[in-house]
Amino acid sequence: MTPKPARGARFPVQLEQTVPRSPASGPQTLRPQAPLHQAARDAAQRHQPSGLGMDSAAVRHALVQRLRREFHCHDAVCRAMLSVPRHQFVDSALATQAYEDTSLPIGLGQTISKPSVVARMLSLLHEGGQARRSGSLGRVLEIGTGCGYQTALLGQMATRVLSVERLKPLHDKARANLGAQRAGHIRLVYGDGRIGHPPNAPYDSIIAAAGGDDLPPAWLEQLADGGRLVAPMQGPSRGGQVLLVVDRQGEELRRAVHEAVHFVPLKSGIE
Ligand code: SAH
Repeated sequence: MTPKPARGARFPVQLEQTVPRSPASGPQTLRPQAPLHQAARDAAQRHQPSGLGMDSAAVRHALVQRLRREFHCHDAVCRAMLSVPRHQFVDSALATQAYEDTSLPIGLGQTISKPSVVARMLSLLHEGGQARRSGSLGRVLEIGTGCGYQTALLGQMATRVLSVERLKPLHDKARANLGAQRAGHIRLVYGDGRIGHPPNAPYDSIIAAAGGDDLPPAWLEQLADGGRLVAPMQGPSRGGQVLLVVDRQGEELRRAVHEAVHFVPLKSGIE
């Protein structure tokens, strides 16, 4: 059984720190000090990883290696995925699956996307003109905060992140998951992301985690010159969703359709 991650210690925390157990009760006998190498070996044995909280860095590393190998995950994305503990963003009962390449439920019928899809979308975002030149995603608009995992990744790769969520319980959950670190350059907004967030526009990077029949015009209006948008959208054949990339060059918008994907629907209004 995986221990529930400490509620007060949300991202980013030094999870891998092992906490020495208190010495077994009973009379303490004084022993002569062991040689240094012996003491180090004993300490290592005492602090063997015993749960996900202890060895999450290792499983996270293995997942990222795989994303690098099989999905050509961009370096900056891999770095962010290495440092953000995905298991802290899902229910503790699902934490053991957090480093498998699988989507997981986050409540209210919504899901956290599978890591390879997140890596793919963020890599595409990072290959946009402005991001490629500057090495940063710049000012980001995210639609569909969900549990806040991708928001945390964006926080590592951008100068500012504004993330909109239409379901209040998920907006609150993300706020709790991101903890105090949200203050500063990450801002969470409870609202309908179909209208984007005009007060902070324009955005160098726009990413959506929910797909609709069309691309809301507001997103394109709020995309900065040289900026890139990555979003799932209903494909032309109505057979399913595809990943859409839009680049803005001045008044020109260039669209490219990529592979089939499967995201939750982009809905209107707030709940
Ligand atoms: N990347 C997220 C995935 C969340 S799933 C994560 O890491 O958890 C997609 C989210 O989009 C859901 O939480 C859903 O409520 C939200 N969503 C759907 N339509 C929306 C809209 N119009 N505005 C804002 N959020 C929306």
